[in-house]
Amino acid sequence: MWIQNNARSFTECTECGIPRVIFSKKKLTEDQIACVTEPASMYSCGAPLFEEGHEYYDIVVVRRCSLTVSKPELKAPTESALEARI
Ligand SMILES: [Zn+2]
Repeated sequence: MWIQNNARSFTECTECGIPRVIFSKKKLTEDQIACVTEPASMYSCGAPLFEEGHEYYDIVVVRRCSLTVSKPELKAPTESALEARI
């Protein structure tokens, strides 16, 4: 699950500003990514990206505080860079 191939987007925690990786088991369409962007902009550590029962609840998730990525990796995350922090 927590691999680069499943990384779809990035966001920052609204509380601590730490970058977060948004993962999805499924490939997302552009419309779906647009649906994810808004809740992701309000994401804070520990909270699910979507409420339980939402159609994306089990599909689109944000890796919590244990995963941090640095700015250069945001542009081009590599599998090794991501795995090193999981
Ligand atoms: Zn945080």
